Amino acid sequence: MKESKKKLKKDILLIVLCVIAFLLLQVILQIANKAYVLSAYKGVLTALQFGVCLLMMMFGRRKGAVVAITLMSTSTAILVAVVFMGEYAAIPGLFNGVFYIITIIVISRYNKNRELESRRDIITGVNNRKGLYIDVQERIEEKQPFSILIVNLHNFKTINDTYGHTYGDELLKKVVRRIKRKLGNSCTVSRIGGAEFVVAFDEVSDIQSSADKLLEAVREKAILVVDDNRVDCYVDGFIGVACYPQDSTDCESLINYADIALTEAIANRSKHAVTFDTNMLEAINRKVHLKKLIKEGLLKGYFWLVYQPQFGLDQKKLRGFETLIRMTTADGEFVSPGEFIPVAEQSDLILQIDDYVLNRAMREFKDVVIKNSELTISVNVSAKNFSDIGFVEKVKRNITNIGFPAKNLEIEITEYCMVNSSDTTTENINALREWGIQIALDDFGTGYTSLNYVASMPFDLLKIDKSLIDDIENDKKRRDFVKAVITMGQLMECEVISEGVENDGQISCLKEDGCDFVQGFVWGRPLSYEDAINLVSGE
Ligand code: C2E
Ligand code: MG
Ligand code: MG
Repeated sequence: MKESKKKLKKDILLIVLCVIAFLLLQVILQIANKAYVLSAYKGVLTALQFGVCLLMMMFGRRKGAVVAITLMSTSTAILVAVVFMGEYAAIPGLFNGVFYIITIIVISRYNKNRELESRRDIITGVNNRKGLYIDVQERIEEKQPFSILIVNLHNFKTINDTYGHTYGDELLKKVVRRIKRKLGNSCTVSRIGGAEFVVAFDEVSDIQSSADKLLEAVREKAILVVDDNRVDCYVDGFIGVACYPQDSTDCESLINYADIALTEAIANRSKHAVTFDTNMLEAINRKVHLKKLIKEGLLKGYFWLVYQPQFGLDQKKLRGFETLIRMTTADGEFVSPGEFIPVAEQSDLILQIDDYVLNRAMREFKDVVIKNSELTISVNVSAKNFSDIGFVEKVKRNITNIGFPAKNLEIEITEYCMVNSSDTTTENINALREWGIQIALDDFGTGYTSLNYVASMPFDLLKIDKSLIDDIENDKKRRDFVKAVITMGQLMECEVISEGVENDGQISCLKEDGCDFVQGFVWGRPLSYEDAINLVSGE
């Protein structure tokens, strides 16, 4: 805001200086006229006037062009009057004046077109990021309420990757046309990223219905003609909203706040349109703080591990342990993994965390599993690692260096991570299994993965999420559902474990329904390394 005010002052000053120079030249011209100086000099002075006009256009752009045309027209009009009064010697000057006016108009049109081009997105023809900032700034200067909706097209990348960029571009154009049709003329659309649009419009009272219309526009079926075949394409959208003036009166912050709300919508997923609120800023500050703590923790050793036992349901025989990470900062603040793991997952920090856990757990349990060959040590690994081409080699290298038996290691991948999994993820899962490492599907029932997809993947263990087995001892419907999941695990030829089992009622239901293992507070909370070793040796 301050910047634009400064620029305006500078423009005005330049224009004033140019006008003074122009008038001075006009005065000199008149004196020259009176003094009967050679007419060739008068021509030079008129050319100088024209030069001043060009300078004004260069520095003052739009305003400069208006002032230049006004001045040149005035001086030409004077010449017309002079000619009418019988001073025919002024005719060549008059022609010069007309020529200069035409030149100024042509140059200013060219400048205007260039300016418009620089604000336009080449593919869709709507505003680009620069155009968006100008549009929002102009709206702010009008001081009328308006809202900004940033919409991210979900699934667009798949369409781009499947059919190619030409068809992807086609789809983007269709989406823009639909948005304009649904939201009417009061909105301006800008494209600020591959699959990200910003819609600014004069509505602040019923944001929800505007967001719904925007979602409808995005979700509408698009027909693309690919190699003479009609292909139906669907994209979904997530929306972040910020409003002027209540959220901010500053252009940059408004766009930033809508973007923060969008990030929340994408992370949340259950709500496709999220409106910015100040709590989100607190959450962001907390995330920044946590990221700093994680980096510090990796260097200064804030992380430590606990091991939660898993038992066979039949005999309560110890199956092994799930490794769970903990963090205590230098100030003694305990941060739960539920809070810091998602932050680490948003950057490459999770790769370092996973490495630390995998190495430490294998080192601590190497001798234990060599002595107790049926014991399984489970480690959680993030989707980022699973989708990395070098992941399998890294695990193999670590296993070999440490001398940990591959068959005693189990790696957990959460069901949620499978939603956006790539071919590399599948290849990595297969390669790890070929090496004898077991793969568990964690948090099953919470990830919205298609059953068909999950069923086609090779897993050794299915971990039913706590949220599914809560209250199964009282709720028949829930119990039947869990029973069906257990059957599904059996059909997939993998073993089934229930997570977060807290009471004996649940234990008897799960036992009756054929679940293989349990993990939960009822039979064992996460233990320190020493307590875990004691449990193995039966002390
Ligand atoms: P998860 O892998 O599903 O781990 C199970 C979580 O459920 C653990 O929470 C565990 O303490 C908790 N839990 C186990 N039994 C019960 C029970 O009976 N009742 C209740 N209320 N909770 C129970 P925790 O340790 O807080 O971990 C939360 C999540 O953080 C984990 O969920 C996992 O997704 C992630 N996480 C934990 N450690 C690591 C790690 O080393 N690496 C990675 N990448 N993620 C980890
Ligand atoms: Mg787990
Ligand atoms: Mg889990």
